[in-house]
Amino acid sequence: MSKTESRKLSDDYEVVDVLGRGGFSIVRRGVRKSEEKTQVAIKTLRRLGPAMMGTKQGSKGGLPMWKQVSISDALLTNEILVMRRIVENVAPHPNVIGLHDVYEDAHGVHLILELCSGGELFDRIVGRDRYSEFDAAAVVRQIARGLEALHKANIIHRDLKPENCLFSDKNEDSTLKIMDFGLSSVEDFSDPIVTLFGSIDYVSPEALSRQDVSAASDMWSVGVILYILLSGCPPFTAATNREKQQRILQLLRHPWVIGDCAKQDLMDAEVVSKLQRFNARRKLRAAAIASVLSSKVALRTKRLRNLLGTHDLSSEELNNLRVHFARICADGENATLAEFEQ
Ligand code: ATP
Repeated sequence: MSKTESRKLSDDYEVVDVLGRGGFSIVRRGVRKSEEKTQVAIKTLRRLGPAMMGTKQGSKGGLPMWKQVSISDALLTNEILVMRRIVENVAPHPNVIGLHDVYEDAHGVHLILELCSGGELFDRIVGRDRYSEFDAAAVVRQIARGLEALHKANIIHRDLKPENCLFSDKNEDSTLKIMDFGLSSVEDFSDPIVTLFGSIDYVSPEALSRQDVSAASDMWSVGVILYILLSGCPPFTAATNREKQQRILQLLRHPWVIGDCAKQDLMDAEVVSKLQRFNARRKLRAAAIASVLSSKVALRTKRLRNLLGTHDLSSEELNNLRVHFARICADGENATLAEFEQ
């Protein structure tokens, strides 16, 4: 990776279309302005604060001043630090997204990532009429290999879920890549702030009860993904997030775990159909959260509590979040896609 200063994204890349949006980012397809015309994904993490501390430090340098930055700046800085750690200690690994370069300008930080045009894990599986345990094993194998490399470098993903597993291309034998390191931690770098945003379905009991999160916590998430792949539904379902949290924390009372009652019959088309419905609901919820995040409505305490689901927040924490979301909303109100263009 070359230095981020004094280089313009538009000098080196032509930005094409939007591939997706996250809570704090937009991801667009780019083509390198070179003879090879390499296609990449450009993830732009929008700058929210006046200063983005930590982005110009190497990962071996001093730690960023967490306490002085807003939550999203913290997440943003975290993603860059973890990506740098990956470049230094992991990459290139076939099952971990590759980072080619980083650009920084007034709009934010642009991560030049390996392009994955094969779609998300569940989208791809429900695209087939039937699939076998052999296919499910291939998925788990690739996730486990990616995690093995990350864990060896002391990186814990902490937000492993199907949306963060993309396939490299549309071919049958394409490679699964683990991505989105916004909530990840490295051994010498973690902060409670980043634990707030994980999706509860895949979160381990220790993460939910805010105890030490380790490599095993990522393996828990792999187990949940595998369960859904084999059964078509998530292992812990409940009317409210709080109830779901209780169920996740009481794993040893789960009938499937203690009763050895898992069916031995082969899975049929109904599993795929259930998975399709689950996937559709999941997408709807993600879209709703993204829209709440980018709207002023997020300022209202009630919505904010809903958004944060199960997390018990002190009034001070809640107030900090309110201030933080106000900044996002103030920023988002005037922001258009054009603002990301160079
Ligand atoms: P979230 O708020 O869910 O954490 P985020 O801000 O971290 O999201 P990502 O999940 O990394 O953003 O990316 C948003 C979307 O952009 C993804 O769902 C995916 O569709 C698309 N995307 C991200 N990276 C790539 C890539 N390397 N290749 C192709 N598409 C990508």
